[in-house]
Amino acid sequence: DDNVQLEYTITRFGAGEWLVLVRDVTRLHNLEQMRKDFVANVSHELKTPLTVLKGYLETLIDTMPPEQKRVHRALLQMNQQSQRMEALINDLLLLARLEGTEADKHNQRVQIAPMLRRLRQDGQATDPEKNHELHLEVDPSATVFGDPAELQSAFGNLITNAVKYTPQNGRIEIRWWEDDRGGHLSVHDNGVGIDPRHIPRLTERFYRPDSSRVTQTGGTGLGLAIVKHVLIRHNARLEIQSQPGKGSTFTCHFPPHRLAPAQSVEEAG
Ligand code: ADP
Repeated sequence: DDNVQLEYTITRFGAGEWLVLVRDVTRLHNLEQMRKDFVANVSHELKTPLTVLKGYLETLIDTMPPEQKRVHRALLQMNQQSQRMEALINDLLLLARLEGTEADKHNQRVQIAPMLRRLRQDGQATDPEKNHELHLEVDPSATVFGDPAELQSAFGNLITNAVKYTPQNGRIEIRWWEDDRGGHLSVHDNGVGIDPRHIPRLTERFYRPDSSRVTQTGGTGLGLAIVKHVLIRHNARLEIQSQPGKGSTFTCHFPPHRLAPAQSVEEAG
């Protein structure tokens, strides 16, 4: 049978003594595939009714006379929660795609500087109420071989997090540099920081150090899981450094073969 999947563990005991363990993991792999398909299908099915709900809610909000204060407030809450649910479904779908498909279109030239500038301009990565100082230090010619949409969502998540977990008047620094080990993108903030014991588990889906903070910041809990998978698909890795109360630095390390020699004219700005 072509579909049988075997896993080998080879252990050496001493001079010429080996132990080879062969495990049939076919069933395990099939189950894993079923789980991924299930998540993707359910997420997709949830989108349709949610779109209908959101449509009606928006109409109601627009037509509700403002003196109906309590109803109006309830509708706004419902709208906000349906937006959260939509974000959650989109992130679940993205994650299922990242886990369940081959990384095939990952050889496009992606210019880092314009992508980061776009993220900043979109406003998605900024919070006007917080008055952050955002510092961008990226060589305009920095270029990576990769998938632009995936990289944008990874960098976007890191920047959104820096904004979310940094109080008013904080400072966020985004840097790109290259050396003989490859290209490196760091997102640094001087925000709330993370207790070191949580760091190894941060990229697990829905893992959160402090569940009480969830409702305040309103994320999906999937951001760093997405970042991790996008980076794996680019042979890159995520490094997390943090000091509670002082701030955090998330660095993406790309290996040298992912760096593309810069092409000067193509997509300037
Ligand atoms: P979410 O932000 O939606 O909770 P993420 O997967 O993006 O989910 O992040 C997981 C957790 O990691 C967050 O809940 C938060 O506790 C922590 N975290 C991520 N980025 C930062 C940051 N820049 N500063 C402090 N904590 C962070």
